[in-house]
Amino acid sequence: MKTAGRITKAAQWITATLCCLSFASNAKEAMQMPVFSGELALQHIAKQVDFGPRIIDHPAKQQTLDYIREQLLPEADKLVVQPFQRHGLKGNNIWASFYPTDKSASSRNRIMLGAHWDTRPISDRDSNIELKAQPVIGANDGGSGVAVLLEFARLLSTKRAPLIVDLVFFDLEDMGDIDNLPFSIGASEFVAKNRFYRPESGVIVDMVCDRDLVIPRERYSRDGAAQLQDKIWRIAARQQAEAFVDRAGSYIHDDHLPFLKAGLKVVNLIHSPFPQSWHTSDDSIERCSAKSLQQVGNVLEELIYTTDYIKPR
Ligand SMILES: [Zn+2]
Repeated sequence: MKTAGRITKAAQWITATLCCLSFASNAKEAMQMPVFSGELALQHIAKQVDFGPRIIDHPAKQQTLDYIREQLLPEADKLVVQPFQRHGLKGNNIWASFYPTDKSASSRNRIMLGAHWDTRPISDRDSNIELKAQPVIGANDGGSGVAVLLEFARLLSTKRAPLIVDLVFFDLEDMGDIDNLPFSIGASEFVAKNRFYRPESGVIVDMVCDRDLVIPRERYSRDGAAQLQDKIWRIAARQQAEAFVDRAGSYIHDDHLPFLKAGLKVVNLIHSPFPQSWHTSDDSIERCSAKSLQQVGNVLEELIYTTDYIKPR
């Protein structure tokens, strides 16, 4: 009986899986979804790494800013660079909006995808003392989130989502604990400067390219945006996106926090516990995998393209 029971369960599982897989592909075909490419995202990381560290006063910073703008400019309905000055530091947040094809966009929901585009100016976690003073390469920490967003710029240019999608690139996330500076300076500035901006939901992607990617349910997101986090993990489970593990992570200070504090539902997708390469000279593209980026992209793609608007009351 036990064995039979198992066989029955296995058969049920196979039937259910086949059903859902075929439903997913049919639904995707029916909606003519564009397809997120982990390989193309990886190329965006390579580009940033080639520029160099995205730190203040380094030419790579301006080159990266120009590169991000170039990717967004042709198709974005709105593109704004918001310069700011805080803690004696100059930064730029970059904000692109993609509206649905039909123009009654103002009454529609919107979702924000955010990532930090700066990198850490020191490798303070490196075990080699001589390397500690060097800037991190930031393939994963900085580069990967930007890459995912830029790949979405391509998708949204091909086919608009049924809601407004804002791609926001935050500066100066990674100065935290250097000279007593806080993390997420750019995201805090963005929230303070754009108080009218109240998207129904948002997702921050940070450190999502490691070949051994593990994304648990970050705790601040759980406390402040449980429904959205549940939705993301339901999609991930259906897609069998193994990087998304269904367990509680830790409380992480990242760019979602200023939004949560302002009462906005923003979930952080971040590798945790942090990979060994974190804030070391080892945060290189060799540790990145297109497959990891693909999983994150697939989940976000389904989230964005199947979330319809709610009519305002
Ligand atoms: Zn960092």
